[in-house]
Amino acid sequence: MTQVEEPGVVAEHVVKDLISGFGIAVPRGATARAAEGVAAAASGLTPPLVVKAYGPGLVHKSDAGAVRLGLGSPVEAARAAAEIRAAPAGSEIAIEGYLVEEQAAPGVEVIVGAVRDPSFGPVVLVGLGGVWTEVLHDTALRLCPITEDDAREMLSELRGAALLDGLRGSPAVDRDALVKVLLAVGGPGGVAESLDFREFELNPVICTPEGAVAVDARLLRGAPATAHARLPRPAPATVEARPPRQAPAAVDADLAYPAPAAVEARPARRVPAEQAGRPRPEATPQDFARLFAPRGVAVVGASTKRPNFGNMFLGFYRAAGYAGRLVAVHPTADEIDGVPCVPSLDGAGVDYALVAVPAERCPDVVREARGVPFVQVMSGGFRETGAAGLEEDLIAAARAAGVRLLGPNCMGVYSPAGGQTFIGGRPGPLGRIALVSQSGGLAGEVVRVGERRGLAFSKVATVGNSADVGPAELLRYLAADDDTSVIGLYLEDPRDGRALFEALRTVSKPVVALVGGRSAQGHRAAASHTGAMVGDARIWTALGRQAGLPLVTAQDDLIGALDLLDLHAGRDVPASPDVLVIGPSGGAGVLAADALDRAGLRLAPLPDVDLGLPVGAVPGNPLEIPVGPRGRPDLVGQVVTAIQRAARRPYPDVVTHVNVQSFFTFGDSADPLLAYAHAVGELQRGLTGTRVTLVLRNAEYAPPGIEDELRAIARAAGVPTYRSIEAAATAVAAAKVRDQRRECV
Ligand code: ADP
Ligand code: MG
Repeated sequence: MTQVEEPGVVAEHVVKDLISGFGIAVPRGATARAAEGVAAAASGLTPPLVVKAYGPGLVHKSDAGAVRLGLGSPVEAARAAAEIRAAPAGSEIAIEGYLVEEQAAPGVEVIVGAVRDPSFGPVVLVGLGGVWTEVLHDTALRLCPITEDDAREMLSELRGAALLDGLRGSPAVDRDALVKVLLAVGGPGGVAESLDFREFELNPVICTPEGAVAVDARLLRGAPATAHARLPRPAPATVEARPPRQAPAAVDADLAYPAPAAVEARPARRVPAEQAGRPRPEATPQDFARLFAPRGVAVVGASTKRPNFGNMFLGFYRAAGYAGRLVAVHPTADEIDGVPCVPSLDGAGVDYALVAVPAERCPDVVREARGVPFVQVMSGGFRETGAAGLEEDLIAAARAAGVRLLGPNCMGVYSPAGGQTFIGGRPGPLGRIALVSQSGGLAGEVVRVGERRGLAFSKVATVGNSADVGPAELLRYLAADDDTSVIGLYLEDPRDGRALFEALRTVSKPVVALVGGRSAQGHRAAASHTGAMVGDARIWTALGRQAGLPLVTAQDDLIGALDLLDLHAGRDVPASPDVLVIGPSGGAGVLAADALDRAGLRLAPLPDVDLGLPVGAVPGNPLEIPVGPRGRPDLVGQVVTAIQRAARRPYPDVVTHVNVQSFFTFGDSADPLLAYAHAVGELQRGLTGTRVTLVLRNAEYAPPGIEDELRAIARAAGVPTYRSIEAAATAVAAAKVRDQRRECV
């Protein structure tokens, strides 16, 4: 057995003293420096007893043969301690003393732990199965601080939650006691917020009908290995009773294996969230108005000889008809591509500069940008490629010049009203959808493909590595922006995940996020992109739940969700998972039911009254009715109106689908289908508390141009359209996450 020196491990009995100050029950126990002292130390304890050795590097005690259970008396406990010392493994480990404690009654073993994520800060976890937790992967996670509701929700999320309720005749455990432990660890002012730690774990907490006892406690300090971790060994072999229960104390370097008497109570202190030493957004919120509507723009990096990115951006501004002052920065040229040049950003007299020069030169360029409020570095070759030092230089340069930095490793800003563009071509229509994206390319796709489908954007910012300006700060700005009603996020590594979490909790407008790099393989791809560190899909899932943030998994779904949220932004529908699906064809209805189920939506039954359904209708939800070239276009509207009137709780969402192909099988007139789209629009116009969504199945079967026409008709009535039930279900589910949140806030 080789023992790894794990710096920062705090001895179990010290951790137990600390946590009992937070109200967590631990077994009664005492420590002794030598095996010979164990009997005396245990004299006040009630058998059965447990003996465990402690010492530096002794982390997984059972593996090292350093735990003995079921000891009948103090003398037996002392003998067990001597055996631990004498065992082959014991001779190789540095035993500093023994913890003897009362053995808790058997029960359901649960793990309660916390880690400090470098981006998101403290996160609390509960898992079932004690030693089996890692194998079973049955855990639930939340960002700290958690509420009591969070704690209860975490427990019910566990796949094996039934174990807590008592199986096969065994009584239910005291859930409230376990909830208390979770709150003591992850709640406001709990262990995770108050102590300085890298990892913290109670494994196991033994849960019985009588309560929840933490029989093991492990804490790794947050700081990297320091000289403190190898403190001189304490004097040998004196028996010491455990100190009295302490007030919550901050663990610091000095607490690694102290003599128990050296543990001092300290007031709990909140550990700041910016663990990675990144700057927090300024106390006064940044006004980004000039970023999205600059009175002047400078492009750095355009060439007089070989056209490059800089020249491309000059071309974009010209093509977009930018009306402000446009200059190129060049040391010698008078003009480039017809754009006047200035020799430096210093004194360029612009609100925004776009920098497209090789990475090594960027810090110098930014240092000269004094007086330019916003500088966007589009160049790559910083942290995302491992050049973290160069990125630090860039940040320092921005600070020295007093400018706010966007990027590096991104594209630009797009704002049809403010003349900003990075996409090429004429600016799209003025709209109310905002987007913050850590990928410039993806933002361009979402905007252009979205506009092709009829979406319209207010403000789009690409932030790449987010070295200075990050998604959180822009989100707060856009949340207060009068021109924006819906916000989309594409994230890989938000840098300050905690700030983003806190911002998300305050935003009442609809927000939807696409997070890249959530899978192990995707993570690698992201690591070579913006240097993303978003490995932990489960933190995002937890954040989604806690902040009421819908998470989609594909670019197309981001566009689809933004479209629905935007078109239905003004509609106040009750929070409920219910959806009514209506359309032709049994098979499509069956598949629709499966798709809705996967999206977490509910097909609540139809009201039990005579709905006057037409011939050929098959009642139920999904409701099958004859929609086709020979059917009455207003049939869907009539039936839905009747159902909504009869239902005690009207459906908040109606998804109506149609098979486009069936309209063109016997002829090529699009009129019946266009009439149907108009009728769906009329239906929406007559319903205030219901969102109508139209699915144009097999739309590619329509003659050229017809799909666009159908979409435009629906859109004019505020109805979003999709090509598949799956896409519609994803968008509806995203809206429901926000409905739910609105209800909770
Ligand atoms: P480690 O996890 O370092 O191997 P533990 O302190 O968790 O060591 O002890 C190993 C196992 O022994 C625990 O998972 C638990 O099942 C049991 N155990 C330890 N201490 C007690 C105790 N005081 N009461 C009841 N069972 C205990
Ligand atoms: Mg353990």
